[in-house]
Amino acid sequence: MRVGCPKEIKNHEYRVGLTPGAVREYVAHGHEVYIETKAGVGIGAEDDAYRAAGAKIVASARDVFEKCDMIVKVKEPQPGEWTQLRDGQILYTYLHLAPDPEQTKGLLQSGVTAIAYETVTDERGGLPLLAPMSEVAGRLAIQAGATALQKANGGRGILLGGVPGVLPAKVTVIGGGVVGLHAARMAAGLGADVVILDRSIPRLRQLDDLFAGRVHTRYSTIEALEEEVFSADLVIGAVLIPGAAAPKLVSREMLSGMKKGAVLVDVAIDQGGCFETSYATTHSDPTYEVDGIIHYCVANMPGAVPVTSTQALNNATLQYGLKLADRGIAAIAEDKHLRAGLNVHKGRVTNAAVAEALGYEN
Ligand code: NAD
Repeated sequence: MRVGCPKEIKNHEYRVGLTPGAVREYVAHGHEVYIETKAGVGIGAEDDAYRAAGAKIVASARDVFEKCDMIVKVKEPQPGEWTQLRDGQILYTYLHLAPDPEQTKGLLQSGVTAIAYETVTDERGGLPLLAPMSEVAGRLAIQAGATALQKANGGRGILLGGVPGVLPAKVTVIGGGVVGLHAARMAAGLGADVVILDRSIPRLRQLDDLFAGRVHTRYSTIEALEEEVFSADLVIGAVLIPGAAAPKLVSREMLSGMKKGAVLVDVAIDQGGCFETSYATTHSDPTYEVDGIIHYCVANMPGAVPVTSTQALNNATLQYGLKLADRGIAAIAEDKHLRAGLNVHKGRVTNAAVAEALGYEN
């Protein structure tokens, strides 16, 4: 199959769908790979690295879309991209169609077969192509929070780990899923005093086992949440109710009970955020203050570290991508996890949640 990867064109997107390492795997499976020139510059992968991996470099995205049977990307296609897709072609990328009727219409009109990374499943019922970005965001949340806590950045001026003779900062993580686990691991690694709140007792048991006393866990009631938020220097919002907007767990009123200069990092902002006072920010202007509390609410946190994020994403997408390239459309019929990823096929919305959200029959 001819597999292609155009350069990402969404604002401030530096990741790339295929690393040179991934290209080598496709080539080893007998596929031809076409990469748009400079597609990898955001991660420091030059055209020569792709050539060495066996790819052919083409001058424009148009060449990639015209030549290839399967397109591998990172972000959802932009308006100039979906018009270049066609019937019989496979698109493999993040799509997030439910809140995006325009893109959905564009994909339907193109006739493309679109697999959305975010709905591909695995044997354990997880979302394996979403997890790596949650791992990145969770770890990054502590770096972002630690920076925002510095005095010059508006924070309280406290060092997460303290120093000998001075107590460390207190970090409260709300939601102990993938983001929460990785945030807690980073915070504990820096020496902070960490507590994770969750509503799932089995999950709290797992976390307790994993951290062996280094991190505390607490069942998330209104009372527990208030106590842990009021005493925190840094709060990480990491809850998820699949398919729903994030619950608002910290109200504006609660901010007055917090320490002045404390920091809220709302990782769940891509689902609307779990703090009442959150609104989405960007890497170029990531924080703002409400009632003396610093908020960091960047909706695409992994974009800040494209080298790590691209590698983590490629590690996860490769095995499914190879199946698609090896077997074509048949792979979707044969593999229930890829089938779960199918969102649009020949002018029809094939994912129940997306169809329901946008009022299509499925
Ligand atoms: P996850 O499903 O692994 O974990 C969510 C956890 O929240 C679960 O353990 C669940 O039990 C818990 N939870 C649900 N309701 C709760 C409540 N009321 N109180 C306490 N805990 C509660 O999800 P995840 O992969 O960790 O993702 C968390 C959020 O981060 C999602 O909204 C995801 O989209 C978002 N995210 C954002 C970025 C970004 O760049 N901003 C990047 C990756 C992920």
